[in-house]
Amino acid sequence: MAQLPNSLEARDVAFQLHSYADARKQEQTGSLVIEKGEGIYVEDVSGKRYIEGMAGLWSVAVGFGEKRLVEAAARQMEKLPYYHTFTFKTHGPSIELAEKLIEMAPVPMSKVYFTNSGSEANDTAIKLIWYRSNALGQPERKKIISRMRGYHGVTVASASLTGLPNNHKSFDLPLPQILHTTSPHYRTMKKDGESEAEFARRCAQDLEDLILAEGPETIAAFFAEPVMGAGGVVVPPDGYWQAVQPVLKKYGILFVADEVICGFGRTGNMFGTETYNLQPDMMTLSKALSSSYQPISALLINDTVYEPIADESHRIGVLGHGYTGSGHPVAAAVALENLKIIEERDLVGHVREIAPTFQKRLAGLADNPLVVETRGIGLIGAAELQHPAHSDTPGSLGAAANAAFQENGLISRAMLDAMAFCPPLIITDGQVNDLFDIAEESLKKVA
Ligand code: PLP
Repeated sequence: MAQLPNSLEARDVAFQLHSYADARKQEQTGSLVIEKGEGIYVEDVSGKRYIEGMAGLWSVAVGFGEKRLVEAAARQMEKLPYYHTFTFKTHGPSIELAEKLIEMAPVPMSKVYFTNSGSEANDTAIKLIWYRSNALGQPERKKIISRMRGYHGVTVASASLTGLPNNHKSFDLPLPQILHTTSPHYRTMKKDGESEAEFARRCAQDLEDLILAEGPETIAAFFAEPVMGAGGVVVPPDGYWQAVQPVLKKYGILFVADEVICGFGRTGNMFGTETYNLQPDMMTLSKALSSSYQPISALLINDTVYEPIADESHRIGVLGHGYTGSGHPVAAAVALENLKIIEERDLVGHVREIAPTFQKRLAGLADNPLVVETRGIGLIGAAELQHPAHSDTPGSLGAAANAAFQENGLISRAMLDAMAFCPPLIITDGQVNDLFDIAEESLKKVA
């Protein structure tokens, strides 16, 4: 990448430390500087256009350049650019959005707690779960189970939930209260001769074994994404959720559905919870909630969670938790308008219409010998790459594919060697074909 002395690229290297990059490598290679976006496309500073095959970070549901969101933000900025939701104060946009989310929730929920990122929503969920256990006089019930390859964020607690080694290494994580159970990835986790149905049952058995080994009275909650996203797009095997949920019920363990990626249409229903018939006690939402035009996230809790927390805050005199930006009026106004667009344009129906083409083209990538597996549902998917020349350096093949895609005008995301596809929900049939045409052609040049 050419870097003129005063270019944005050069100044980026000079002044920014980036997420999810090898900082030393980035000093050499620099970054792609994106300048603008429209629909499913973004453009870099040189004027080159790309299909944003990841909707940014799994999030820009309504696409780039949506004027209604710009206008909603501007209207709210002019009226009341900021107010908070602490200590008996509130404002219209946060109230309306909370009401809307309770209305939309796929299972009965009673309260919404606003945060600014998926990580904060999950972090808050953990704190409230601990607070609740104390409120219930069960101070020993503090352990939390999530899954290997799950992704729940990067704060100290939510990074602990995340079941990916690179989120723990050298950060001294995970926290000791957080335990990880088997990832539901059939191809890599199955035992010899185990059918998919047997594997699904074993995942539930592994969970139960862990609960029993730790002591069921010590386990407070189980966190899971309906479909794993950043861990490589892992679609659970048939029967997985039917087997797992009764285990949670049996031991009175709260279920937190992390809907940060699945929420608002991605899997072909408004929530992944509906796609898999889940019964969570808490849900975390972000990303497509505002199409990431503003940072905002939400934690939904049902009555069994809310009531003891309310009692405990009364006993102490305050719920000692809150972010300056919780329920930010501009973010809330943008989220409300975004949800209106999702509903008015029936983007969930649109996902169902487009998904067959998307999934067919995704599966077609397996014609390339580099692709050992494709997996997906709705408008999310991944193609796992493998080649003997790269077997000692996990991630190197993914990086090569990423570079080839980018060269040819497609932005994907390599999760080690799994290439993810998660475009804006507004993508058309023709654009899905464009996306996979580029992916197919690019893969031919990677080895
Ligand atoms: N949960 C899931 C399922 C996610 O995919 C992510 C981010 O990718 C998070 C939580 C963390 O969200 P954030 O990056 O906004 O902190």
